[in-house]
Amino acid sequence: MMLSEQFTEIYELLFDRFGPQQWWPGETKFEIIVGAILTQNTNWANVEKAIGNLKSADLLSATKLHALEVANLAELIRPAGYYNIKAARLKNFLDWLFDEYGGKLSNLAQLSTDRLREQLLAIKGIGPETGDSILLYAFDRDIFVVDTYTARIASRHHLIEPGADYEQLQYLFQANLTGDVEMFNEYHALLVRCGKEFCRPKARCAGCPLEKLPHTVEVEFF
Ligand code: SF4
Repeated sequence: MMLSEQFTEIYELLFDRFGPQQWWPGETKFEIIVGAILTQNTNWANVEKAIGNLKSADLLSATKLHALEVANLAELIRPAGYYNIKAARLKNFLDWLFDEYGGKLSNLAQLSTDRLREQLLAIKGIGPETGDSILLYAFDRDIFVVDTYTARIASRHHLIEPGADYEQLQYLFQANLTGDVEMFNEYHALLVRCGKEFCRPKARCAGCPLEKLPHTVEVEFF
């Protein structure tokens, strides 16, 4: 079977079992971006509480958050954990947005994917996973987001060597998928679901949607 067919088969098995994941939760582009920055090293329930605080205070807009003292922002997003660091990261993003693009996300939408990615990754505290989540989920760009779950599943299913880095994993998926933004969106969410429920550091292969595919779990991945 060709590599690209394996990627399609994994997608179909996951989709058949889990169905559409309806990512990314967020009513606006800005909310998706805030969520992508806040979700680093925490679970989504905590992000929702932090975003809920911003909404309750009627502060979930680029202009209002940009004007807010970083200490006040940190207090509001406290439920997301690492709140001082994350407040600084949000501020870094907002400072860049206002300094370079007049505070308008619509100006970012005019940029090419490569240019936007390069600039997002140059912002202190925005790494590849966060930047790519913003590109895919807020700006509908055909960028595949990879994470720990992707690495674990791809390694255990012999699609890539253990220890492959972010760019190698991303290239692997992008080179072997003929899908569009919608598929990239869904595929990433399905891998996360599979990784949380079955492909944990200690794999639970029994009953996993990918159980029938060749895999190895002798190595315990992060
Ligand atoms: S839990 Fe097992 S079958 Fe499922 S994805 Fe991980 S290695 Fe594959």
